[in-house]
Amino acid sequence: MNLSPHHPRFLSLKTRDDLVKAVASGLVAPQGLIAQGRGEAFDYLIGERTMPTASIATLAAVALLLEAKSPVISVNGNAAALAGKEIVNLASTVSASIEVNLFHRTLDREKLIARHLKNFGAKEILGVGSAASKTIGGISSPRAKVDPNGIGKADVVLIPLEDGDRAQALENQGKRVIAIDLNPMSRTSQVASVTIVDNLVRAIPALIESSRKMKKLPQSQLEKYISSFNNERNLANAIEQIVQYLQGWIKN
Ligand code: ATP
Repeated sequence: MNLSPHHPRFLSLKTRDDLVKAVASGLVAPQGLIAQGRGEAFDYLIGERTMPTASIATLAAVALLLEAKSPVISVNGNAAALAGKEIVNLASTVSASIEVNLFHRTLDREKLIARHLKNFGAKEILGVGSAASKTIGGISSPRAKVDPNGIGKADVVLIPLEDGDRAQALENQGKRVIAIDLNPMSRTSQVASVTIVDNLVRAIPALIESSRKMKKLPQSQLEKYISSFNNERNLANAIEQIVQYLQGWIKN
């Protein structure tokens, strides 16, 4: 597709085009396009910008990642296609492992995603094939399978684009879940410890930037970011910010 960068919806159209190509190459399952469509609708409603509440959640998320003993970034096809390079960069900045975890799991797609991320410099990708040998209770989909060296033993898991069942099951296992989800009302957003209501193409670069700055902070200050954050309140504020933005569209 020939897209002019001057088109007012260039970024959204380019992202769409990238995902269509990723479906053709097998990186993304066709169902990933539907998830993207749902996300796009919410992105429109938040004004396709990072809301102040997302920036607050980003600070709490970075503090959790930097404080974690075994942080893991869980990656599916959409996340790899939309922000593969940035995910590898974030993992190296906060010393997190990367694990492939797919709803529509096939060994071919797992290997393709692992190769895609290794092309961006990732040394090791967990969860591919038989490496995902542990099963987490409370999940009926193939997403229940995790790598015992990754999500299996993780204390903090970053899950861009998740389904609610798995987010809940990970929290039930005592793990702190960080979600990136454009829908503040999704089950994932509601059950996570920290939800960043933003598009992952904006959220991951923001996480990298804050991680670089916050790495220098003492542990006590990181802990303050964590203890002062309340996900339920922040989600309520996110919905209020969406409502305020929408009120700006009422012309009389
Ligand atoms: P849940 O089970 O949590 O209620 P769901 O069934 O509503 O989720 P799914 O269709 O499983 O949602 O997954 C898509 C989710 O990912 C949606 O909430 C959508 O808003 C979000 N999403 C899609 N694309 C992006 C993106 N680029 N950045 C952030 N979030 C996204």
